[in-house]
Amino acid sequence: MPQDERGGLELDLENRLIGASYAQEDAGVEMSLRPRTLEEYIGQERVKDNLRIYMQAARSRGEPLDHVLLHGPPGLGKTTLAGIIANEMGGTMRVTSGPAIEKPGDLAALLTNLEFNDILFIDEIHRLSRAVEEVLYAALEDFALDIILGKGPSARSIRIDLSHFTLIGATTRFGQLSGPLRDRLSIPLKLEPYTVPELTAIILRSASVLGVPIEDSGAMEIAARSRGTPRIANRLLKRVRDFAQVEGDGIVDEGIAQRALCRLEVDELGLDSIDKRLLGSIIRIYGGGPVGVDTLAATVGEETITIEEVYEPYLLQIGFLNRTPRGRCATRLAYEHLGLAWPGEPPERAEQLSIEGGQAHHL
Ligand code: ADP
Repeated sequence: MPQDERGGLELDLENRLIGASYAQEDAGVEMSLRPRTLEEYIGQERVKDNLRIYMQAARSRGEPLDHVLLHGPPGLGKTTLAGIIANEMGGTMRVTSGPAIEKPGDLAALLTNLEFNDILFIDEIHRLSRAVEEVLYAALEDFALDIILGKGPSARSIRIDLSHFTLIGATTRFGQLSGPLRDRLSIPLKLEPYTVPELTAIILRSASVLGVPIEDSGAMEIAARSRGTPRIANRLLKRVRDFAQVEGDGIVDEGIAQRALCRLEVDELGLDSIDKRLLGSIIRIYGGGPVGVDTLAATVGEETITIEEVYEPYLLQIGFLNRTPRGRCATRLAYEHLGLAWPGEPPERAEQLSIEGGQAHHL
């Protein structure tokens, strides 16, 4: 791992094998691996049960589905689910993203091209500009656009009627969505990380689509290291397939999966060297914590937001990190996983240090 001038880590996010965000290497294959129907979409049972009811009810009324908000971490299947909704409702889906719609005119061009029952999918919807959002409100509520023509005293407003469409917004940051937008997306659906059995099923399905011979044990081994995320599972499957072809007999079994993922430095819980350096910094430099996230970010040479959005979620989810009012603490599980002796709960340690006149860190 290269070090930067502050002695921190130089984090190569773009090429992080277990990064959940879409990467160049996912292009092409991701499309072919996308399930097309709710039946094929594995896991997320509660979301699917609710969606089935909403879609059936809308269909029986002969109406398009109400507007939907999909939220959850990257790589969990939001775009895939939007495509399935379009498919099952029999509409065409147009795909765009918050930052791509720069001006109200861009939005107007998209909306006026939609037909009855079509789906407009806006990824990263929390990144829409305020001006665009305001135009969107009327479109969502009244299926109309109010456009102002001209400037000054001669300006006049005209109203353009739109077809009755469905907006599906996706976001990784539910908290950043404005209240009015949240209110208008009346079907909110939250996607959760997948269990190992669900990821195993996803990997077996992907292997069959890609024509990769695989054993259940091989799929389980990859699933356990995929951080609850189908995008990572599919990416690891492709890498392990390469090892199986070159160093094995082409079949992805438990042994080849273990060897390949060990070579790729993805450990049995899906942690890579970056996670370990992050936990290692908390433990070795800050005595296990608490350490403020800004201090931690400066130590590893990253932005606070990257720590919060990219690294922490999984470490919190598997119980390796605790968020406390005074900062982040490494847990007993983290010490044990790194093969280090657990010194006890942080408050006890802090007290002990001050009694002994040692240097407690106040961050
Ligand atoms: P997001 O939009 O949330 O970032 P995507 O919908 O692009 O995630 O999904 C990433 C990849 O994971 C896709 O290739 C898709 O095939 C796969 N995937 C996601 N969810 C599922 C699922 N429930 N079942 C099968 N494959 C899935």
